[in-house]
Amino acid sequence: MIQRTILYIEDDATARALVKRVLSKAGYKVITAQRALEGLDLARKWMPDLILTDIALPDLNGRELTSNLRADPRFASVPIVALTAESSEEKRELALAAGVNGYLTKPFDAKSLLMHMEFFLSGGTEGIDDSKRLQAARDRHLAEVVSRLEARIRELETSNEALTGLDQMKDTFIQLTAHELRTPLTLIAGYGRLLVDHPPLQGMMAQDQDIGMLIKGLTESINRMQTVIEEILTMSRIMTNQIELTLSPTNLGALVARVLGEYEQVCRERQLSVHFNQHEWPVSMRADTDLLRVVINNLLSNAVKYTPDGGQIKLKARMDGQSVHFIVQDTGMGIDPAEQESIFRRFHTVRDIALHSTSKTAFGGGGLGLGLPICRGIVEAHGGRIWVESKGNDPQQSPGSTFCVVLPLITQPRSKNQSSIKRLVPQQ
Ligand code: ADP
Repeated sequence: MIQRTILYIEDDATARALVKRVLSKAGYKVITAQRALEGLDLARKWMPDLILTDIALPDLNGRELTSNLRADPRFASVPIVALTAESSEEKRELALAAGVNGYLTKPFDAKSLLMHMEFFLSGGTEGIDDSKRLQAARDRHLAEVVSRLEARIRELETSNEALTGLDQMKDTFIQLTAHELRTPLTLIAGYGRLLVDHPPLQGMMAQDQDIGMLIKGLTESINRMQTVIEEILTMSRIMTNQIELTLSPTNLGALVARVLGEYEQVCRERQLSVHFNQHEWPVSMRADTDLLRVVINNLLSNAVKYTPDGGQIKLKARMDGQSVHFIVQDTGMGIDPAEQESIFRRFHTVRDIALHSTSKTAFGGGGLGLGLPICRGIVEAHGGRIWVESKGNDPQQSPGSTFCVVLPLITQPRSKNQSSIKRLVPQQ
């Protein structure tokens, strides 16, 4: 005999366990859900032979769940039975009006529950004989659904306002913290430089390699911290729409060549071969040079970080009269299609945060997850587009990633209130 499946939706754990035991013992396959939305998902997945549901559930109530299922032709003839502590005639009529086939009340005994299951599974159904009463119950049900919907929308609006407020507080906190950290860090960096240039220390460094290494480590860490803080401040500016682009004639090819120069040593150390032909790139376009430098630098730094030693990085460009299309392509670990949009969102890093290691150039080194959102903010502020193409993420096979950018050769200055995109000016 084919085993029949019953989906039971009940938020009370004891009742759930009890009914499940009774039905399982009688040979039914029982699937349970604690909430209506979970129940809806399971119903659509398993297409049970019968759905047994409590009425008072924490999200949708049993009547709303039933109306929802009945609206789906696949559930038009699946028996839905209420099992509830609400025993009044009015509640029974409401449930029948919503579309249940039967209305059972708690407490129940095992024998009668099983009898009822068989009754409904073999096509039995309860109903309201009086059509006027049925219509009145349907009207009440509809009114209840609408008023609960209104209440839910109001609740959502309130929580949305609260969340937006919290989100703003978080942004302000991050911005203030970055500002507060920037001032002492600038002093530390200044003192660090004075120290490095201090003749007695230079003498000591010449004599003792270890001292040289310690000082190098210190200055590199300070630089890294400054970069992180600048990233946060840049992102804050992008988010708060504070600043305008500073447009000037920009030699993009020369800009890329300069940024590449900064990576020459690390590429040599890590045997990364870089393909770049400056002649392909525009020599003059109207753009914010400093900000485009940030874009090139971030894309290149990622290509270096996420490509294993011995890999290749290609920077190619072509022009079509109005725009320049360029790509930064690597033979690195690649990016899962599901992540290809979210990596452009703030603070999104693909890997487990517990495995986070901060490095601008080491293979697999991560950052704050701000580089790409900053790139998108800058590119869009220029009226351009940026996206990524990759077959997927596989650190062993290295399918690679291609970051594609389209920028207008002439960016029109736009007034602040015209812009939906956040703008910024270069950091000083
Ligand atoms: P991060 O500072 O973490 O590098 P980004 O915003 O620059 O932040 O990048 C976000 C995430 O996108 C990275 O953590 C990484 O997982 C993924 N990613 C970016 N560029 C590449 C790339 N070239 N290859 C593979 N993954 C990349």
